[in-house]
Amino acid sequence: MTQSAKSNFDAIIAGGGLIGLSIGYGLSRLGLSVLLLDAEDTAIRAARGNFGLVWVQGKGAYFPSYADWTMRSSELWPNLADELQDIDGPKLGLHQNGGLSICLSEAEMQQRFDKLEYLRVHQNGRFHFEMLDRAAVKEIMPGIGPRVVGAAYCAHDGHVNPLYLMRALQTGLIRNGGVCLSNSPVSDIRKNGSTINVSTPKGNFECQRLVLAAGLANAGLAPMVGLEQSVTPQKGQIVITEKLDQQLSLPTLLLRQTDEGGLMIGDSHEDCGFDTSVSPTVVSGIADRALATLPALADVGVVRSWAALRVMSKDGYPIYDQSETMSGAFAISCHSGVTLSAAHAFDLAGYIAEGELGQELDGFSQRRFDV
Ligand SMILES: Cc1cc2nc3c(=O)[nH]c(=O)nc-3n(C[C@H](O)[C@H](O)[C@H](O)COP(=O)(O)OP(=O)(O)OC[C@H]3O[C@@H](n4cnc5c(N)ncnc54)[C@H](O)[C@@H]3O)c2cc1C
Repeated sequence: MTQSAKSNFDAIIAGGGLIGLSIGYGLSRLGLSVLLLDAEDTAIRAARGNFGLVWVQGKGAYFPSYADWTMRSSELWPNLADELQDIDGPKLGLHQNGGLSICLSEAEMQQRFDKLEYLRVHQNGRFHFEMLDRAAVKEIMPGIGPRVVGAAYCAHDGHVNPLYLMRALQTGLIRNGGVCLSNSPVSDIRKNGSTINVSTPKGNFECQRLVLAAGLANAGLAPMVGLEQSVTPQKGQIVITEKLDQQLSLPTLLLRQTDEGGLMIGDSHEDCGFDTSVSPTVVSGIADRALATLPALADVGVVRSWAALRVMSKDGYPIYDQSETMSGAFAISCHSGVTLSAAHAFDLAGYIAEGELGQELDGFSQRRFDV
């Protein structure tokens, strides 16, 4: 990330995670001059520790606008990947051939069916899924264990390398004339006429549009623009195996195989504040379920594990807001930043460039919690 000789930009993004980079890239491809400000290397970063699913099944089952927004992003993903493919660097590793939610009991099958059927009935005909019995799952994943009863298959699901995605978005942003500054956390925000002034340890900058996309730090930044973002951390732990021949042709909620061959195993959820330690008990719980799915994993070496913090709102859905007291300022927090990257880069960036969030995002305001 480089120094900036310039101090006035069309848009400033606070936060260099997946949300900030997706929106920043999106604004830059529309021709806006963009400055992306990121905090220190020690900052909390969900974007560097996630699982990489582009996941639709089950999302927004009881929040139709979120189901629509997720589906929209999944549909836009091939366009984003095509655009980013022209950028130098490793391939994104996007595969959108569908995904499986493995069920280890009839009760899990029924629960999954109920949720996805509710989603199908309440959506506009775009969402499709199939419940597969054990024999059908075995055709896709020959190594499944005896406890696997079946799975839900959804053709809209997929996965991507989230680190290569971040790299491509940043390279694209810079190629479009954007500037990225690290070690530059936003410390103060003021309005001066029609301009927004942003202070950092590396200097002060001006803009017409400001996007707060600082993940968990949005809770502290949002009040500076007259908004609230009630987000809290939720820990997820992930285990990585040694590189293997192809074991999985499709990702599941618990297991995915990267293009390089390693298996990622994850899907834990813990509320334990800002603690990012890896705990053997949780890791062994993750491993137990993985072994029930694919028993051959018992002989596979684990090469590393980590924990990262999800950016969670009170109901788990994104918060999209624009300030009423500081026009031009927006605050965006969400879990599922990989899945929503395409909607953020295209649709959301378009709204921000125009200065007004689209109607389909009305239900996502922090105001929904004011009851
Ligand atoms: C274990 C785990 C698994 C996940 N799996 C998936 C998945 O499979 N699919 C999916 O879609 N999503 C997944 N996610 C969620 C996804 O990673 C997040 O939605 C996304 O990374 C959030 O990005 P963010 O940019 O909001 O936050 P972060 O990545 O946390 O980035 C925030 C950035 O803000 C910067 N910052 C902090 N303070 C300031 C400041 N004052 N000024 C400027 N910058 C600041 C930080 O340096 C940081 O770079 C997962 C998350 C976790 C933790």
